[in-house]
Amino acid sequence: MKPTKCKVFCNDCNRTKMLFETEKKAETFIKFNNDNDEFEKGYSPCRSYYCISCCGYHVTSKPQNENIKSKTELLLERYEVVKEKDRLNKEKIEQRKIESKKRKKEKNERIIREYNEKFKV
Ligand SMILES: [Zn+2]
Repeated sequence: MKPTKCKVFCNDCNRTKMLFETEKKAETFIKFNNDNDEFEKGYSPCRSYYCISCCGYHVTSKPQNENIKSKTELLLERYEVVKEKDRLNKEKIEQRKIESKKRKKEKNERIIREYNEKFKV
């Protein structure tokens, strides 16, 4: 069973990885390749995991670590933060525009008042 059919470039890992449609297919691959020394030197996949970047399953030789977030997860989180900052910035700019208009209006009204008082129009 040579793993050549399902290789894709994974943006999350930044390298070519095998991609499986289902967890079962990935697990089956692990089962068959664990006794296969030819596969890759020093690489013996021990678990499968779902990749949100490829929308499929990869196999890995690294032990499970629930706390480590994938690159794509981190990227999506950062994107949300940037989006929120952007939104707040736009709000601030809008608020400044409104305040600036208000100040201009007040200034104009003051000038008109002063003019009217001075020249008793
Ligand atoms: Zn992937």
